[in-house]
Amino acid sequence: MLLQQERELVVEYGKKLITAGLTKGTGGNVSVLNREQGLFALSPSGMDYFTIEPWQVAVLDLEGNLVDAPYKPSTEHELHRRLYVERPDMNGVVHAHTNYATVLSCLRKPLPPLHYLIALAGYEVPCAEYATFGSAELAENVVRALNGNRAALMANHGMIAGAKTVQAAFRIVEEVEYCAMLYCQAIAMGQEPVLLPKEEMERHFELFATYGKPAVTKENPGC
Ligand SMILES: [Zn+2]
Repeated sequence: MLLQQERELVVEYGKKLITAGLTKGTGGNVSVLNREQGLFALSPSGMDYFTIEPWQVAVLDLEGNLVDAPYKPSTEHELHRRLYVERPDMNGVVHAHTNYATVLSCLRKPLPPLHYLIALAGYEVPCAEYATFGSAELAENVVRALNGNRAALMANHGMIAGAKTVQAAFRIVEEVEYCAMLYCQAIAMGQEPVLLPKEEMERHFELFATYGKPAVTKENPGC
């Protein structure tokens, strides 16, 4: 089967979105790129994550052509495609409708550096401007908002993260959601939290780089 390993990862991480409480129903989508082959595997549209089998996962090329798609791919295929074209550091992308990050996205507020885990995504998590789900405009807005970061909120919709592997992208989604929860609870107490300065965030990029992993940088976080 074409992209068997990548399709299996899409199935595995789709289920994890539900079991980790990061999305509900059929919300969100997962993709894995095989950069050598110029093909990516993407969740099918509107299917229960627990019923998807690897052969039902769509395979597309980087021009957006369906290469092997027995079922319709996720409506956000253009979003995933654009990220793989624009971001050579991304081989896995996870989009989810997480609770707290989506609250912030509805307020159209970026998630500021209130906790060192934000460093997994960048200096902060920006909020992409609103566009209809599945549109090329939404893909454009997300690419522009990311501006080198690895995660973005999507106005009135949810969040997205991309990284070297889908495992790392999933971890970023989990940690961004945790930080979004901290931020929402802090502002619900009527206060803006004290933020970490840029130099401290830079220290975290270095610490993550040497924390049980090969050397990495902000540009190439190895995660
Ligand atoms: Zn969505």
